[in-house]
Amino acid sequence: MAKLFILSAPSGTGKSTIAEKLLQQIEGMKKVVTATTREPRPGERHGIDYIFMSKQEFEEGIRKGLFLEYANVYGNYYGTPKDQIERNMREGYDSLLVIDVQGAFKVKSINPEAISVFVLPPSLEELRRRIIGRGFKDSNVQERLSTAKGEIPCARNFDYIIINDFINKAVEQVKSIIVASRCERDSVLSNLRNLLHNEELIELIEGG
Ligand code: 5GP
Repeated sequence: MAKLFILSAPSGTGKSTIAEKLLQQIEGMKKVVTATTREPRPGERHGIDYIFMSKQEFEEGIRKGLFLEYANVYGNYYGTPKDQIERNMREGYDSLLVIDVQGAFKVKSINPEAISVFVLPPSLEELRRRIIGRGFKDSNVQERLSTAKGEIPCARNFDYIIINDFINKAVEQVKSIIVASRCERDSVLSNLRNLLHNEELIELIEGG
């Protein structure tokens, strides 16, 4: 059974970079592309980085129940389209949701079996540097930092916490969580015939 992984963190912590590198290194997983009403930033591609839509289209999507969860983050809508998760499930891919903390809680309450990972910055000072590095103006930096301070205590409610001090280490850690969860007993047993191609062993395990 395909799984749902949630990667969440305060804005600026580096979760998108972790996700991008992770997807290059791990098989059997697809990122769920968030729908948003915010303007594309330079270099962002429609359908790959985000699904960009108008406020009207988004609100239509809410009415039609197209989103697993949605939120208003810094004045724009962001939502997780259900259809991508359903398609991944059908095709046997795990889904990766890269979403904010409020979205993570909503998904976890709808799907308690989803595996949630919280990414912490190594320090608030470093988070401030990373947010400034993204070119936000002063008032936005303060807003993001104060939101981050409110979100960081939520780390306690996630299944896993990793610290993004060195990007490659952080990616390795998320990868390990995914690999380990794919080896969970119930997960393997429920998918035994797809994973193990040896009748003798399958019979031994199933018969035992
Ligand atoms: P940005 O506009 O900087 O790319 O993202 C702003 C915030 O929106 C980030 O904290 C990001 O995690 C969050 N976000 C992205 N996708 C989703 C989503 O599908 N649902 C929710 N609730 N938040 C999202």
